[in-house]
Amino acid sequence: MSINERVVGETCIICEQPKHNGIHLYTSFICLECEKDIVQTDTNDPKYKYYINQLKLVVKPEIYS
Ligand SMILES: [Zn+2]
Repeated sequence: MSINERVVGETCIICEQPKHNGIHLYTSFICLECEKDIVQTDTNDPKYKYYINQLKLVVKPEIYS
């Protein structure tokens, strides 16, 4: 008897792939690869803009005081 292990994990908001390892940002999930990518990407890189855009979709800063 084999165990059909279908561990899907969570869907990363950046690469939109189900991953097991990553961090939670508010209610969203970013996989380790993307997290590393974001950190290593130069802010002038167009890729960086994409990342930030993806992040903006989930990060809603609540500015209440
Ligand atoms: Zn990812």
